[in-house]
Amino acid sequence: MFSSFFHLNHQMNVPADDLFMRGIQIIQHPLINDPEKKIDHFNERINKGTGAPIEIDHLVLHCSCEPDIENVLDRRGLSAHYVIHKDGTILQCVDESKRAYHAYPAFWDKVGGRENNMNAHSIGIEIENPTFGAATHYTDAAMNSLIPLCNSIIARHHIPPHNVIGHSDINPVGKADPGRLFPWMELSKEGIGLYPEKGNERVPSSNPKELLQIIGYDTENMPATMQAFKRRFMPDALKYEATGSDEKATLKFMENYSENMAKLLPQKISVTPSEVQRLQEVAKIYQMSRTKMR
Ligand SMILES: [Zn+2]
Repeated sequence: MFSSFFHLNHQMNVPADDLFMRGIQIIQHPLINDPEKKIDHFNERINKGTGAPIEIDHLVLHCSCEPDIENVLDRRGLSAHYVIHKDGTILQCVDESKRAYHAYPAFWDKVGGRENNMNAHSIGIEIENPTFGAATHYTDAAMNSLIPLCNSIIARHHIPPHNVIGHSDINPVGKADPGRLFPWMELSKEGIGLYPEKGNERVPSSNPKELLQIIGYDTENMPATMQAFKRRFMPDALKYEATGSDEKATLKFMENYSENMAKLLPQKISVTPSEVQRLQEVAKIYQMSRTKMR
């Protein structure tokens, strides 16, 4: 569907390995590098203070949550390195060597921290969900493109599995994407991210805050962070989330996501024994993964 608007790009650093072997094309978005349009949705991956280059060591997965996925690039100066259409088409919007604008503000294992440097540290992929609010299942075609693209990025940049994250993991208060239906468990079996089986080894702590911090979460807002944790690791136990039964209502909910969540979530949380158990299992694989890297 993009053939009349997009052309294959031979100048950018496109991953040439597994994707091409599978016959998956990466297409360059026409607005990028177009001097007429002067669209500037990226800059250099450097430390603003020292000018030193910053290494890519995170992969952030998003949901575009809107049907006209090309708007992702134009709206409010946002950008991502790749956009995957529900038919499996991959658009490259920003060269991997540049810093795109998809993860601000963000916090993960103190890397993004209060300095909000996650954009400089990461590659961002937006995946189209067929309905607003990521309320229906992602298409097989999108997943069949996402898996080799992620594997290629992870291999080329040596991104550790504990740094493959969803937008809501790094901004639990403001973001819900890629949502409770994102297939994290299936992706982990393809080597993308971490997802422990039930009954795994556990971290002995029973302090939810401490366990969330071991995983990498910011715990300033515990109700929102527990919601983000459950969205990813206990999606069946999730309350207070848009369901998608009414598309318009879901869209409205998602538009003012953080405001709506603030109204819905309890101020104080009581973490159930089964939630603590899940936190302990998840914390254990993150702890083991990070120990291996250090
Ligand atoms: Zn996002």
